[in-house]
Amino acid sequence: MDIRIGQGCDVHRYEAGRRLVLCGVAIPYEKGLLGHSDADAAVHALIDALLGALALGDIGHFFPDTDPAWKDADSLDLLRKTLAHPAFRGWTVSNIDLTIIAQQPKLAPHIPAMRQALADAMNLPVDRISVKAKTNENMGFVGRLEGLEARAVVLLFRAEPSL
Ligand code: MG
Repeated sequence: MDIRIGQGCDVHRYEAGRRLVLCGVAIPYEKGLLGHSDADAAVHALIDALLGALALGDIGHFFPDTDPAWKDADSLDLLRKTLAHPAFRGWTVSNIDLTIIAQQPKLAPHIPAMRQALADAMNLPVDRISVKAKTNENMGFVGRLEGLEARAVVLLFRAEPSL
C-alpha cells in the first residue's frame, strides 16, 4: 500500500456585495469572500491538500488568478478538474478533514450540505468527509470579521505499483 497525506490552508477577505460560498454551498450573510473565483476558501484549502499529497504544487499554479478562464469560477469545478489530473489516476481519497475558522456567520447549520456537496463533487461517501467550523475567539483578522480561514487534510492511498 502506498499512502500519501496532504494539507492545505487558505484565507479570503470579506467584502460587501459578494456571495459567501463555502464547500460549494451559498450561505446567507451580509458579506461574501473576495477573490478571482467564487473565493470558496474551504475548497481552495482542500485542493491544495490534494495537490500537496502528490507534491504537484499549489492551486495558484494550476488555476492562476491572472487567467480570465477562472474568473468567478465555481471552485467545485476546480476541485473536479484537480482530481481529473492524470497524476491522480489509481489513487483513492481515504478521507478528508476540513476546518473552517470564521467568527461569523454561524456555519454549523450548513455543515451537512457542505459535506454532501463535497461528497457529490468528489464521488466519495459522505462519511469520509469531515467539515468542522469554529470561531477565532474574537481574536485576529478572523475575530475582527475581516475574513475567514480554512484548513484541510487529506489522505490518499493506492495499491503498491507493480514493478
Ligand atoms: Mg483561495
